Amino acid sequence: MLEAGICPPDAEFCAREVKEMNGAYGEKIARIAQILREPGRHWALTGAGISTESGIPDYRSPGTGLWEKMDPTRVASAEALFSDPVFFFKTNLPRWAKINEAMPNVGHLALAELERQGLIKGVVTQNVDSLHLKAGSQRVYEVHGHLRSGHCLRCGISFPFNEMLEQFQRGTNPPRCPCGGMIRPDVVLFGDMMSEDFHKAEQELVQCDALLVVGTSLQVYPVASLPRYARRLIIINLMATPYDRDAEVVLQEPIGQVMTDLLRALDLPVPQPERSHS
Ligand SMILES: [Zn+2]
Repeated sequence: MLEAGICPPDAEFCAREVKEMNGAYGEKIARIAQILREPGRHWALTGAGISTESGIPDYRSPGTGLWEKMDPTRVASAEALFSDPVFFFKTNLPRWAKINEAMPNVGHLALAELERQGLIKGVVTQNVDSLHLKAGSQRVYEVHGHLRSGHCLRCGISFPFNEMLEQFQRGTNPPRCPCGGMIRPDVVLFGDMMSEDFHKAEQELVQCDALLVVGTSLQVYPVASLPRYARRLIIINLMATPYDRDAEVVLQEPIGQVMTDLLRALDLPVPQPERSHS
């Protein structure tokens, strides 16, 4: 039951929320809460959909604009990096710098809370935006790498991401190590080998009891193979996924709302996201 006191001042929103929580939606939320409360090794697997509410566009969603003129498999690929590094950095660095400014939303904060409460072991994410770490998650496998650092392709030395960005802004493109080698970001590009985190995540998920899939349509392999390892699946994503038929619960609703309601169903506090700096 929702109490009047916790309703936001928007009466229309409140009425909708009460109605939905009492129907099939509310039953699904209760079911997810029940599964997570059962003992076992529960994990979350996240994708771009969890970060759209932090202002990071999901290039696979139609109408988001950013990627409609660009093919990510081409511009964010190892082939592009090596064949035309100037174009590679010009196309990707400004976009990545913006991603690094984003702040976690209630979805990220809720997963961090579930981990603190011992209801999930951690998060496997396809995102490179560091938002799970910013939200306070402790065990995070970033299977596509991240945008916190880069490394020299010649001597291997590591640099903070901003070193690449500052060199680029000063007109040094591609960014260079003092040894003369090119610095590349620690993201997994199309055409790269899979990360060590991917293999670690795979080993964890072999023993997974329930996997909470949040904001991914499970279209990109090899990550799309990971749900096969879990005994039980919960899928929260706006669009259908190839695993929907195997899932115990499928919720095609906005992630921030679902995660808020899930925390309430678990009698956990609902965290308030900070406003983005951008
Ligand atoms: Zn070097």
